[in-house]
Amino acid sequence: MESEEISSECCGSGCTNCILDQIIRSQNLIRNVDESSILPIGYYRAFKCTLIEQIMDNTFLFRFRLVPTDEEQQKQLIVAPGSHLMLRIFKNWRFANRPFNSIFSKWRSSMAQFKNTETRDRRRVVEKHDKTELDLYLSRPYTPIRVNCDEKSFDVLIKLESGGEMSEYLLTLHTDDVTEWKGAYTGFFWKRNMHKHLFGFVQGVGLAPVYSIMANILNDEEDETLLNLWYCCKDMDSILLRSDLQAMSHYWNFKSVIYLSREKCSCGGRTSRNCLCLSSKKRYNEQIFNHRLEKQDIQNLLEKVAPDSVQVLICGNESFAELIVACITELHIENYYKF
Ligand SMILES: Cc1cc2nc3c(=O)[nH]c(=O)nc-3n(C[C@H](O)[C@H](O)[C@H](O)COP(=O)(O)OP(=O)(O)OC[C@H]3O[C@@H](n4cnc5c(N)ncnc54)[C@H](O)[C@@H]3O)c2cc1C
Repeated sequence: MESEEISSECCGSGCTNCILDQIIRSQNLIRNVDESSILPIGYYRAFKCTLIEQIMDNTFLFRFRLVPTDEEQQKQLIVAPGSHLMLRIFKNWRFANRPFNSIFSKWRSSMAQFKNTETRDRRRVVEKHDKTELDLYLSRPYTPIRVNCDEKSFDVLIKLESGGEMSEYLLTLHTDDVTEWKGAYTGFFWKRNMHKHLFGFVQGVGLAPVYSIMANILNDEEDETLLNLWYCCKDMDSILLRSDLQAMSHYWNFKSVIYLSREKCSCGGRTSRNCLCLSSKKRYNEQIFNHRLEKQDIQNLLEKVAPDSVQVLICGNESFAELIVACITELHIENYYKF
């Protein structure tokens, strides 16, 4: 089974005895777990939440830190860039009457407008994946954007979903609460200078895996891969990791371009792809366009490079991924990976 097939098969419902763990172990896909790592795949470990920070209206940064046992003090937390970890919670967490965290108050009140009881009731009937045992948990995958190996902590950006089960649980999460994580899972591994060009096409919070892979490459002085990040989001206020991307642009081998699909335009240039409204909002050296990323943009970018010198990474919704795959296939680029 290909790694891509494995990740697409994950039911995400947090099976206590996940069959994917067995497949992944047997195929040795998890190459990032070695003797010095303290996160063995297949076992949940307790991580304390040490930071919650609002990044934008619906997206929050969470930091989780493992409190190691005495034997683990010298070990490191190793999570390969681009891989994801699984967070699990008790399915009946609501019975614990957990208090809401006020940092989410604004998001909660905006969510209240959209609450649809019919949808929520339907969602509560969760199909059990592993029918052989009592399944007490539900889980969701999240992709660390940063890992501090020595501090044994990682940061995740989480976009809260209205009516989402894990999202609603997270509204009750406070710093110092203990959560359970396992992993890491990935099907994509980067080797230094593996390709001349690495192109990332990402959408919204799909920035996370590609950002962490590219940031890691930039930290490696001997990796001279040319990095291009094409990032699509809604509007100026929804650009994630904006300062980090700006800092990365100081490296000679990194370039990012941001496409906004729903930013307002008062100059009338948006339809002709020539909007000037953003000039005062852009920071030094930022390339931001006030229109959607289209086929023509992808082709203009990729037709200049030899197809066999390129690796493409894609992370976004299905229609976004379809657009990118159709374009690169036309250009005979075969090396692509969809997160
Ligand atoms: C590999 C991978 C990595 C990921 N990394 C990240 C990450 O770094 N950051 C991040 O924010 N997300 C990430 N995700 C997404 C994340 O795992 C969750 O899917 C997301 O947080 C929503 O989970 P939830 O439990 O809150 O919502 P869910 O309960 O799964 O619901 C999702 C949406 O569907 C609606 N819904 C649910 N059930 C029904 C139904 N029966 N009928 C109609 N509507 C329904 C809900 O209202 C909600 O809007 C990743 C996903 C994958 C696969």
